Amino acid sequence: MITREEIDRVLQRYDKDKITVGTLGSHSALNIFKGAKEEGLRTVCVCTPRNEIIYRKFPLADHVIIVENFTQLLDEKIQEKLQRLNTILIPHGSFTAYLNTEQLMSNLYVPMFGNRQLLDWEANREKQREWLLKAGLKLPRIFRTPREIDGWVIAKFPGARGGRGYFLASSYESFERKVAAMLSRGLVTEADIEKIHLQEYIIGVNVYPHYFHSIIENEVELLGVDRRYESSIDNLGRIPAQEQLENEITPSYTIIGNIPLTLRESLLATLLEMGDKVVETAKRLAYPGIIGPFCLETAITENLEIYTFEISARIVAGTNVGIGTSPYAYLKYGGKMYMGRRIAMEIKSAIEQERINDIVT
Ligand code: AMP
Ligand code: AMP
Repeated sequence: MITREEIDRVLQRYDKDKITVGTLGSHSALNIFKGAKEEGLRTVCVCTPRNEIIYRKFPLADHVIIVENFTQLLDEKIQEKLQRLNTILIPHGSFTAYLNTEQLMSNLYVPMFGNRQLLDWEANREKQREWLLKAGLKLPRIFRTPREIDGWVIAKFPGARGGRGYFLASSYESFERKVAAMLSRGLVTEADIEKIHLQEYIIGVNVYPHYFHSIIENEVELLGVDRRYESSIDNLGRIPAQEQLENEITPSYTIIGNIPLTLRESLLATLLEMGDKVVETAKRLAYPGIIGPFCLETAITENLEIYTFEISARIVAGTNVGIGTSPYAYLKYGGKMYMGRRIAMEIKSAIEQERINDIVT
């Protein structure tokens, strides 16, 4: 694994007055670039030919590096180019979706805003569960085998696939039937079935709070909340029950976009405490803990119980709903604050205080 000393050596060669904010062209790149530009930093986008149009039509990247696929981020030439631009990379969902954590931790010598070790905690369901439990959060039960199913479960597949192929089951029999259906629709493979993760399905609504842990200010901030818009589950209500039964519809949870949310104010107390506890626990698990953005994925029941089913130790695409501002960012900062800009602000403060080493790994 790349040590902080090795990253410090790369940083020593950097011109701190010409830091460039870089990321892969997808997920929350526009959010990150806009924030960097508003804070007066340069930007670099590593993207594929397919998505180049996005960064041409929204011209927020000062440099665009075209690669055939995202794993080329690891190529020596690309890394050298990024280092010459004094780049600090902002990891997002595509980093873990298209590269594996081993590659990110051992082969990427460009300083990253965030704690690389936590990307590994995030990628591993067991470790993630340990982290959240240690932080004292309420989690859905998990079922080791399909035979244990005794209520509603959601079946998940490995990796951040944005909910593609997830399905619900309420018994061993319905699980087997649905697996067969998913296989025949090509939504999952036999190999996926081996690694299936069965989680208690929480009946309630999904709420995704976005937090920022500032190393410089030593503070955990709540900057926004979203809910997801998932296909096909979110529009099944438009098909009457009769027709649903007629067609034996199997819903899926493919992420299409996000919808901003404000919460019943009293819920904020618990959510704010949860953010603090997650940060405190992370410090003990992988020092210095979370650097910058993180998000909890929660489901809140009719009894106002908050269940957390996942954590992302990096910017999430749900923060895109706050580009410009969100009510919570507004309450703390006034207008024009959002995750991409908050990241850039932290980088700028770190440069000013000569603490850049504290916020990258
Ligand atoms: P993409 O570049 O669109 O393939 O996205 C990269 C990864 O991030 C995939 O695993 C997606 O499922 C995930 N992702 C992209 N957009 C969102 C979103 N709005 N909310 C949650 N996850 C997302
Ligand atoms: P994930 O890939 O874990 O973020 O899950 C994708 C989607 O599945 C979420 O946005 C929720 O709609 C749903 N979901 C996941 N886990 C649960 C759960 N334990 N209870 C209820 N809904 C869930």
